[in-house]
Amino acid sequence: MVILMICSICPHKCKATRELHTGEGICKAGTAPKIARISPHYWEEPCISGDKGSGAIFFSGCTMKCIYCQNYEISAENRGVEITPEKLSEEYKKLEEQGVHNIDLISATQYLPAILKSFDIYKPNIPIVYNCGGYERIETLRSLEGIVDIYLPDFKYSDNSLGEEYSGVEEYKEVAAKALAEMLRQTGKLKINDDGIAQSGVLVRHLILPGHTKNSIGVLNILKENFDSNITVSLMGQYIPHGKALNHPKLNRKLTKREYQKVLDHLLALELDGYAQELESADDSYIPNWDYK
Ligand code: SF4
Repeated sequence: MVILMICSICPHKCKATRELHTGEGICKAGTAPKIARISPHYWEEPCISGDKGSGAIFFSGCTMKCIYCQNYEISAENRGVEITPEKLSEEYKKLEEQGVHNIDLISATQYLPAILKSFDIYKPNIPIVYNCGGYERIETLRSLEGIVDIYLPDFKYSDNSLGEEYSGVEEYKEVAAKALAEMLRQTGKLKINDDGIAQSGVLVRHLILPGHTKNSIGVLNILKENFDSNITVSLMGQYIPHGKALNHPKLNRKLTKREYQKVLDHLLALELDGYAQELESADDSYIPNWDYK
């Protein structure tokens, strides 16, 4: 395992010193992967979770600092337990033996050197899903070519000022559009088997934020203009305030039906392929129990 690095893995390019257990970069991650939970997970899109669940591995820490993150305990507070690449590869095998549809790496970018090592030790025979915030460097994504089968990125903002204010990232829309193009180059359009389970390709998510339908419409326009029928979209309306958003004047409430319908109508008018998650799915019960096991 890499025990000391000067890090430029993500678009922040901190050039920060990272040691095994500590890091001075924006993500604060050391080089040893930290895990909050490993288990079958049933709350991704139907083509990812199916009826057997995705083999979810929730990594602690994140390169984005979203103030509304529903996983803020693990993403912002970096709570979790460290794991070696050897142990991680054993966890892939265990999940596979449980019959999950895929290995679902959630917010993994900050630990990529150790994760690549884990796949050198054992590459599962089920699809590998890379579940991320969309704020990725192309050079870093290239190291995943041939390993990742399904990219599951967010496309959060068309308004870069919101990316800066809510997630602490610069030039989000340009960075995310280039990253998405690279993901599509590697894996192509989403392919689903006869049982309705994704096997390869890209499924891009967008979470509608309260008071920001214009941002959402801008995101859908970017996806249409740049990727059109090659992209499959998952439009999410299940926002609920968490973390710092609980005290934010705009983000401290759920979406209204009118806001959700306005963005959904735009998705339909653009004739983009995809899923729409209902407003009724805005519920705390979808958040895993962080037992650090
Ligand atoms: S992974 Fe962490 S330390 Fe490395 S560039 Fe990104 S935020 Fe900085």
